[in-house]
Amino acid sequence: MSRATKEAERRARIDAATREFGLEGRTLYMPHMPYGGSYLLAAALRSLGIEAWPVPDSDDRTLDLGGRVTSGDECYPQKIVVGDFLRMLQDRDPGDLAFLLPTANGPCRFGQYNHLVRRTLDEHGYDQVPLMTITSSDGYRSIGEYGNDLVRTGWRAVVAQDILMKMLLKTRPYETEKGRTDIVYQESLDDVAAALEARDVTHDERLTNMKAALRRSRDRFRAVPAAYDRSRPLIGVVGEIFCRNNTFSNMDLVRVIEEHGGECWLSDVGEWIWYTDDEQRRRLIEEGRRYSRASLVRRVKAGIQRRDEEALYEPFHDEFIGYEEPHDIREVLTFAWPYLPYTGALGEMVLSAGKAIYLYHKGADGIVDISPFTCMNGIVTEAVYPVVQRDHDNIPVRTFYFDGTQSDLERDVGIFLELARTYRQRKRHPRVFPAYFPAA
Ligand code: SF4
Repeated sequence: MSRATKEAERRARIDAATREFGLEGRTLYMPHMPYGGSYLLAAALRSLGIEAWPVPDSDDRTLDLGGRVTSGDECYPQKIVVGDFLRMLQDRDPGDLAFLLPTANGPCRFGQYNHLVRRTLDEHGYDQVPLMTITSSDGYRSIGEYGNDLVRTGWRAVVAQDILMKMLLKTRPYETEKGRTDIVYQESLDDVAAALEARDVTHDERLTNMKAALRRSRDRFRAVPAAYDRSRPLIGVVGEIFCRNNTFSNMDLVRVIEEHGGECWLSDVGEWIWYTDDEQRRRLIEEGRRYSRASLVRRVKAGIQRRDEEALYEPFHDEFIGYEEPHDIREVLTFAWPYLPYTGALGEMVLSAGKAIYLYHKGADGIVDISPFTCMNGIVTEAVYPVVQRDHDNIPVRTFYFDGTQSDLERDVGIFLELARTYRQRKRHPRVFPAYFPAA
């Protein structure tokens, strides 16, 4: 079959899916998880012909509207997501809008929120407004014919977002021209988004274009005027995936830490994708399907994802010396094992505990766990952190809870940074610095 015929068939399938989801003539909006990740995922969706963008920045009306339709039993991310959707429905023509809500199975309420958002929209007369969900737990069946293309391009969007976020966070604390790194970050998102959203290109061509855009981004970040300094404490940031990545919900905690003299290493989004892949691997083995077709499909998919990831990270090898992510998610799970065995505990609590220990070994001076108030992940990790600390030289660890009413954030961050500076004097795992840091 010729490339043109294959492409025509693919387009016909995608157009049918667009009709099936009721997206014709509408723009699809999604929450910030983080902003840059949603920006690039939206570009991946545009490559399929779906007009997609992140929701506009949240504000006080988000909390007001979200608060009116939630009872208090729901967690904070739900309030923000539904508040943003309702705000847009009030401000714009509902006939132009559709929403996307990533969801997940696991030991928390998140898996139920697509039903709750749907019910809320229906009760407010927006029953014609489509709500798409996307989850790995059903093999992406919920996105039908978009599946294969979106999974591949969406994964690349996730990896590119993780790379650009790393560049942002390792550059911004040292900039000497205030605001320059944020500008470069947005320019880089635009550059990578242009490569992602191109239509009628092969997967190989898209990868080549993305690598070129990422190289340009790397050079842009390198050109930011900066005074690198080894004395800044490195703070590892773990926690609940929405609140950790959504700067409105966590009151931009990373920036607050930077303003108090720290540098942050934020847990990447890709770790969640690798975690769900590993979950699937273990489930198939437990069900006696190690050599099944499903197992083979998973292995092939994971192999392709790994190749894409390595290709996109390749230009950043020197840049990320000292900032390397674990090569295999099982490294993180193994660190968590004595405290939260991954065969019993599930979800972000395991990743947070394991990543905190990984970051301790990378020379972090403190660990911050970002959690929505009442989130069981945060409650469980907060309970095990004292033992984790005891076993790891009493590295400072602090859980920050958020529900939109935080009052003493500046004071608490200031105190935490002092603890991190004190720990820095006695830590046993020194940090490795990239070559552009001046010698100590
Ligand atoms: S992880 Fe916590 S905050 Fe997030 S959806 Fe689950 S229960 Fe809610």
